Amino acid sequence: MYCPVCLQNALKIKSNGVVKLTFNNKSRNTSLFTYNLQKDTPEQLQEKLRDRIEDFFKFYGGFSNKLPIKKFEAYSADFMCTNGCKLAMVKSKLTVIGMLFSANTVQRLLTEEGKKVDVEVTVTFS
Ligand SMILES: [Zn+2]
Repeated sequence: MYCPVCLQNALKIKSNGVVKLTFNNKSRNTSLFTYNLQKDTPEQLQEKLRDRIEDFFKFYGGFSNKLPIKKFEAYSADFMCTNGCKLAMVKSKLTVIGMLFSANTVQRLLTEEGKKVDVEVTVTFS
């Protein structure tokens, strides 16, 4: 992944940190989870993501005016550049899709959890 400072393909995610989720640019204060790549298996990470998606959709599914979920983001501030760039100055949200989770996995979880509460998911990842 490209570092926003040196623009080289040198960005790595830290071994532990926090992932935050937004759905159509909205999130709950519970729409986040911690990860630890030294402890969590890929299955456990996926379950954490599913659990937080489910949490949001249970809440959102109760709305009377439910818009389709068109935009979903999973991002973290816990990245480091192997060239030593100081990323604390960078305000942009760095996605973990393609890092911690494949786009296919994210899309599948969103669709599955959306169906349970009758929320349409039209998110696509390029
Ligand atoms: Zn850099």
